Amino acid sequence: MPVNRIAKFGFVNAYLVAEDDGLTLVDTMLPRSEKQILAAAERLGAPIVRIALTHAHGDHIGSLDALAAALPGAEVLISTRDARLLAKDMSLDPGEPQDKLRGDYRGAATRPTRTVEPGERIGSLEVVAAPGHTPGQVAFLDTRDRTLYAADAYSTLGGVATTAKANWRFPLPALATWHKPTALETAKALRALDPARLAPGHGKVVEAPGAAMDRAIARGA
Ligand SMILES: [Zn+2]
Repeated sequence: MPVNRIAKFGFVNAYLVAEDDGLTLVDTMLPRSEKQILAAAERLGAPIVRIALTHAHGDHIGSLDALAAALPGAEVLISTRDARLLAKDMSLDPGEPQDKLRGDYRGAATRPTRTVEPGERIGSLEVVAAPGHTPGQVAFLDTRDRTLYAADAYSTLGGVATTAKANWRFPLPALATWHKPTALETAKALRALDPARLAPGHGKVVEAPGAAMDRAIARGA
């Protein structure tokens, strides 16, 4: 499967994943990105039939309301946990680390049509738990070719890095991370999936990323 990356300012990504019934949009980038996203779908010649969000940070949900208005039939999917953050409910559960939630939780007016749990499928994408950056972040593994849409569990800008430790070349994802020990466990769990390519929330797509992920985990520990 070709990976269809849409990038804004070279560093904020969304992806269009082709399915038999249309396209799944992974994340919606910053506000006012809807035109760029809709144009990319038009170039692929297929409608966006679902919007799958990796987590509730503003640079991933920014154009959700505009896209939901432009695509009234599209499904909107987010993890059950981050759906609360999307609705600006900032409460933490008793069993969770009580660390401060970091980053931009601007929320959205759009409500998910369905919330998802790790292990469920969204078309060809398997929902994979990826907490740490946010409490309910998820990654998506394309079961057809093992492309891993890794959300902000990894960034590749300035080199492959986890968000468990700030990469001085691009520290933003680490600075917006809620609980770094959990983020490091997530980085290891995603590495264990042995992805064929890494499609992060920020930075370029990396082919055969295993060794680079190993080095990032070693640096993050
Ligand atoms: Zn991000």
